[in-house]
Amino acid sequence: MPLVHGTPEKVNTDIKKVLVSEGQILARVKELGNQISKDYAGKNPVLIGILKGSVFFLSDLMRAISIDCCVDFMSLASYSGDKSNGIVRLLLDLRESIEGRDVLIVEDIVDTGLTLSYLENILKTRNPRSLEVCSLLDKPDCRKISVQAKYVGFSIPNEFVVGYGLDLNEKYRNLPYIGVLKK
Ligand code: 5GP
Repeated sequence: MPLVHGTPEKVNTDIKKVLVSEGQILARVKELGNQISKDYAGKNPVLIGILKGSVFFLSDLMRAISIDCCVDFMSLASYSGDKSNGIVRLLLDLRESIEGRDVLIVEDIVDTGLTLSYLENILKTRNPRSLEVCSLLDKPDCRKISVQAKYVGFSIPNEFVVGYGLDLNEKYRNLPYIGVLKK
């Protein structure tokens, strides 16, 4: 199927510019899936999707992974509208133990790094065999704390983005591309 999303006639009128097109996302997700399949060969990793922003990425990524893998979910909050309040709260915890497991956190975006740092600290206390991060997007200029995802889809500038799971007050998650809003 041709990847035509992201062409001007398909772009939501609230979007100022498309930063990453649907085609670029899907191609990069395939590459990440191949790399993860190689790195975790014979291991059966558990992918932890961070709700809600990572759902589209996680579902495409899992289908690009050719080895056995499991999935579980967590939900954290630190954003209100387009501003992070800097205080991270755990809203939903894992169903299964991760003790002795190879854990791969799947995030939508790493911005200040506060969410990821909080998450890594919680998960490390549960004695996984390994703990790594795969984030679709990275805004390295915005860090307030030093964290680094092993797998990154795209590094982007310091702009608030929406689409492919990322929202503004629950809107725009269903856009198939990553874009910057007009206002
Ligand atoms: P951090 O704790 O690294 O500042 O932020 C992590 C969370 O903030 C992300 O998982 C995401 O939910 C939200 N976030 C950070 N930057 C953006 C952005 O540009 N757009 C949207 N929609 N959410 C963001």
